[in-house]
Amino acid sequence: MIPVLPSILSTILELVYPSKCVNCGRSLGPGGQLCFTCRSTLLRINPPFCSICSRPFDGEIQGGLQCPNCDDFPKAFDCAVAYYRAQGVLRDLIHRFKYSGEFNLRRLLAEFLLEALKDERMRKPPIDAFVPVPLHSVRFRERGFNQAEALAEGLAKKSDVPVLKALQRKLNTATQTRLDRKVRIQNLRNAFRMRDLVSVEDKHVVLVDDVLTTGATLHECAQTLYVGGASSVRAVTVARG
Ligand SMILES: [Zn+2]
Ligand SMILES: [Zn+2]
Repeated sequence: MIPVLPSILSTILELVYPSKCVNCGRSLGPGGQLCFTCRSTLLRINPPFCSICSRPFDGEIQGGLQCPNCDDFPKAFDCAVAYYRAQGVLRDLIHRFKYSGEFNLRRLLAEFLLEALKDERMRKPPIDAFVPVPLHSVRFRERGFNQAEALAEGLAKKSDVPVLKALQRKLNTATQTRLDRKVRIQNLRNAFRMRDLVSVEDKHVVLVDDVLTTGATLHECAQTLYVGGASSVRAVTVARG
């Protein structure tokens, strides 16, 4: 009789909380969010990639292990790790999470962050805290939540590392996506400050955000954290552009 119990329980759970793939709607086992077929369409970033910003290289590695962008514009963060491209299904999911208020996607997206945390670059030194990239208060009010903070909290639950809301955004950099790289960087300069009464001194911190595009935001955040006394600053994102 005993082996029957878990299946009864899972059937009841499925009836109460039917699990469907968040992308295609196919039925899933309890607790699942993305089916195998949809998962297999995700574009994973495989080596060779830039050791600083994880940008994949086409074909053979030419020269060093850094991409031209990291060579030309040195980054304040030690590395930014992402295991997936922000394309197709994953881009849609991030979009729905961020702009359509589908907060339940947080758990799934945090899984991709957790996967990236297993990267060699993340192992040493041990992480003292996750620092979410802050949203400007105007956008926070519009959206109701900060996606980076929600993801960092999801990650903290799975990894026993605390979240430290160390940064604050000073300027509203709302229309970044339409601007070119140079203007984006100029706009972001001095966009962040340390939050009062929060210290990162002598801490190994990891910035958390949904997507890395040019790396300009993470660069500015990392710079602020280093000025604030952090021992090291790395970054992790669900995906990269
Ligand atoms: Zn699916
Ligand atoms: Zn790079």
